[in-house]
Amino acid sequence: MRLSDEPLLHTAEIAARVVELAAEIRHAYGEATFTVVVVLKGAAWFGADLVRLLPPTTTVEFIRAKSYVGDRSAGPPEFALFPESGITDQHVLLVEDILDTGHTLAAVCERLLKVCPASIKTCVLLDKPSRREIAVDVQFRGFEIDDHFVVGYGLDYNEQYRALPAIYRMLPE
Ligand code: 5GP
Ligand code: MG
Repeated sequence: MRLSDEPLLHTAEIAARVVELAAEIRHAYGEATFTVVVVLKGAAWFGADLVRLLPPTTTVEFIRAKSYVGDRSAGPPEFALFPESGITDQHVLLVEDILDTGHTLAAVCERLLKVCPASIKTCVLLDKPSRREIAVDVQFRGFEIDDHFVVGYGLDYNEQYRALPAIYRMLPE
């Protein structure tokens, strides 16, 4: 596999959309305080940029779900890190890098519901609707993309390319 020469989404485009998403989120929550739950590792970059534009009372937790090996979904995610406290009775905004088949987000929501948050809303940077296998409610969505495997801005291919500041397609050699 190799990187596309041109980014699919440029750094400035991503940054501008993050500002818009933050405005939508602030508007939706109004005066209510909420907890951002960032799904590691991929959404750490997006989450860090987003929370800097949210109210200072916003609290942040991390959850670690791993479901991909190479460019293949490897079934239901495993939770390597789960924030037991800090979620119960809180309004939770789940922040994920990319929504693909939907299995990861569905499993994360199901797991979060067990610790009784006051509510769960979901924000994804990227959405590949053509790949969906399970319905997932998403309130905030950065970009809809076609069925490409993408890397950069936190997204990896076998742990590499997360450091790229823009989002690129992975192409066959
Ligand atoms: P789903 O469970 O919705 O199929 O997949 C969601 C997870 O798969 C995301 O959290 C992400 O880690 C990974 N994933 C899905 N599509 C892509 C992609 O195009 N690029 C990368 N790097 N990861 C992806
Ligand atoms: Mg992920």
